[in-house]
Amino acid sequence: MPDLPDLIPLDEARSRVLDGIAALPPVIIDLADAAGLALAEPVRSAMTLPPWPNSAMDGFAVRAADVAGASAERPVVLRVLGEVPAGRAPDDEVGPGTALRIMTGAMMPAGADTVVPVEDTDAPAGASEVPAAVAIRAPTRSGGNVRLPGSDVAAGTPLLERGRVLDPAAIALLAATGHATAVVHRRPRVAVISTGDELVPPGLPLGPAQIHECNSFTLAAQAAEAGAEVRRMGIAADTLPDLLALLREAVVWGDVVVLSGGVSVGAHDHVKAAFSGIGQLDVWRVAIKPGRPFAFGRAAVDGRPAYLFGLPGNPVSVFVTFELFVRPVLRRLAGQAGSIGRPERIVRVAERIRGSSGRQTIARVVLEPDPDRPDGLLARPSGGQDSHMLFSLATANGLLFVPPDTDLEAGAEAVAWELRGYGG
Ligand code: AMP
Ligand code: MG
Repeated sequence: MPDLPDLIPLDEARSRVLDGIAALPPVIIDLADAAGLALAEPVRSAMTLPPWPNSAMDGFAVRAADVAGASAERPVVLRVLGEVPAGRAPDDEVGPGTALRIMTGAMMPAGADTVVPVEDTDAPAGASEVPAAVAIRAPTRSGGNVRLPGSDVAAGTPLLERGRVLDPAAIALLAATGHATAVVHRRPRVAVISTGDELVPPGLPLGPAQIHECNSFTLAAQAAEAGAEVRRMGIAADTLPDLLALLREAVVWGDVVVLSGGVSVGAHDHVKAAFSGIGQLDVWRVAIKPGRPFAFGRAAVDGRPAYLFGLPGNPVSVFVTFELFVRPVLRRLAGQAGSIGRPERIVRVAERIRGSSGRQTIARVVLEPDPDRPDGLLARPSGGQDSHMLFSLATANGLLFVPPDTDLEAGAEAVAWELRGYGG
């Protein structure tokens, strides 16, 4: 082959892609819209949680000393002064020989140091009038069933670190500590373009020599799973002007533009020329299988910059190169702390897996518990490994990395990425 650049090793290609990529600017967002976004600054609690002492049970607020000797056989009878429902400050004090009926989350009245659950009394459970007296059938220790101020969060406590992805638990903590908004990095925008004269959207009948376009759907799903806002821009014909027109539009809208197809050495492959036409081509051809023709570049249109990914057209190459290159960039842009890839495991291969000459092979595998090693995983190929074979991708739950010029024999160790859970 004439004039082809050397293949770039995977690690080097990844660091060239990630070089200089920083988190998108912070924005203030309503807490209700913040799920999945990463904090742009750490959060401290301005509040103590709980803010005041309250009951952990529906029952009766009493003095532990009064009920110390209570039992089912010899109940202690207390006079009930009234009740403390949730949301109302108590208007009575509990003195010797008395009780206040109290609901979960209601404020502890002065004088009481414990709550006897309704189940340990003769009072009816559920909606009922406040009784004039209550028979207590079991003791509770002082402090029992009382939630103390600050037992959850002390004021000033660091709650969440910068880069923390706002998962449901983090959202709950922010809401409970009174935060109506969060300062997060905005969601990356990903524009997706397919290229190829043979492509027809699914749902339309195939004419001669046509296939259904799938890559834009794969990429939209991957980008959405990675937390991005996605726009599918359509299918560009295999001509440079058509491609440039769609690419310009995509750069104006997206922080990232992901194209598939047209990036190899075919006579109608215009993606690299399009990158150079509106910006620059930084990476082309990586020592991986599948995915060798991968291209990366940068461009700006009307002062709006974007990162450009040219993924090879074969549907499995698209999936794999998104995982290797695009997902890490989206995580960086989103300001997410921690690893930029998928969970990584050292696994053992169950059978021989062949590598390839001069390239790192990324194999579709089924990861399953290793019967011979507790917590260990075994990897076996999920099916055919050619880059057009989507069925084996859908049955795989992992990607296995086979080093260049290496065949992994049964029992050999290798690195795998977990794509989703593995059975057992
Ligand atoms: P290319 O790199 O454009 O030569 O494409 C390589 C292979 O991927 C060819 O078999 C194409 O038909 C196929 N291909 C390219 N784009 C898509 C797409 N969006 N959906 C499905 N197959 C595609
Ligand atoms: Mg093509």
